[in-house]
Amino acid sequence: MLFRWLKQRRRQKLLAEPFPAPWLDILHERVALYRFLDPDQQARLRDTLRILVAEKAWEGCKGLVLTDDIRVTIAALMAVLVLGLKDAYYDNAPTILVYPQAFRVPEQHPIGGGVAMHSEGEHLGEAHYRGPVILSWADIEEDAAQPGFGENLVFHEFAHQLDMENGDADGVPLLPPALRRRWQQVMAPEFQRLRQAADRQRRTLLDPYGATNEAEFFAVATEEFFDRPLELRDVHPRLYDLLREYYRVEPAAWFERMG
Ligand SMILES: [Zn+2]
Repeated sequence: MLFRWLKQRRRQKLLAEPFPAPWLDILHERVALYRFLDPDQQARLRDTLRILVAEKAWEGCKGLVLTDDIRVTIAALMAVLVLGLKDAYYDNAPTILVYPQAFRVPEQHPIGGGVAMHSEGEHLGEAHYRGPVILSWADIEEDAAQPGFGENLVFHEFAHQLDMENGDADGVPLLPPALRRRWQQVMAPEFQRLRQAADRQRRTLLDPYGATNEAEFFAVATEEFFDRPLELRDVHPRLYDLLREYYRVEPAAWFERMG
């Protein structure tokens, strides 16, 4: 309780300072989605971003020297994901390890006593339960600059973190009671449909990697929702609506505005 109060105080103090001007340049130059947001959302993103930069333990790996460019870009994308959620700062993911590019999964990682829940085939990123989130900067740099392809490593890995907030990586994050039943009603058939398409090697809007299990389905659907929302809304309207209600934002409107 005291700890939470101190944390709250520290955050208020941090947000009372002016936003660092060089970081604003980074947002404008590197994070295309930032320009899609309205001024209120941009302000909210900047606040969340500062808290994430300040509170996470950021570490460069394989010789990567972490710069403000890297931290601000990653934190901005983390902030986009929770723009509509209240006080969501990924408290279960205190450490962020950044590799220069796609990495081989190292033999030993300090996973904070947790269990490695999964790792990506391409080793672009990993999310561990109560352990570090591991990311490849080369991929993030490209994702941040070019939305619209349905791919975003930060959205993917941090969707796993949201999923694990209530325990297992099972594709079901903490939900308001009103959404619980509908989550199953929408997610289960969408997941089955992707599995069938993947079995038949039929191309779909959603990345077939999402057919791996329910957790990957949620992560892949989240990438589409934030990075290619107009297409997701057209092709999977129920899935889009469900994610809109969960994330409490309307990314299709962002992309429509940018036309
Ligand atoms: Zn994944």
